[in-house]
Amino acid sequence: MVKKRKELVPTPKSKFYNVRCPDCGNTQTIFSHASTYVRCFVCNRLLAAPTGGKARIEGKKVSEFG
Ligand SMILES: [Zn+2]
Repeated sequence: MVKKRKELVPTPKSKFYNVRCPDCGNTQTIFSHASTYVRCFVCNRLLAAPTGGKARIEGKKVSEFG
């Protein structure tokens, strides 16, 4: 039986993601609600795109924290 339910909070909690670039394998930290386009430091591939809320992660999310 599942007793705990995840609360659906209207205001999203911000986090940080470690995102791996699918092109070069570089891993970098991206704010979950990034309001600008985030590109890979190494190869300049787009890793996160702003959506007005939670950023759309374009790479492989390896972990999250914060
Ligand atoms: Zn890259």
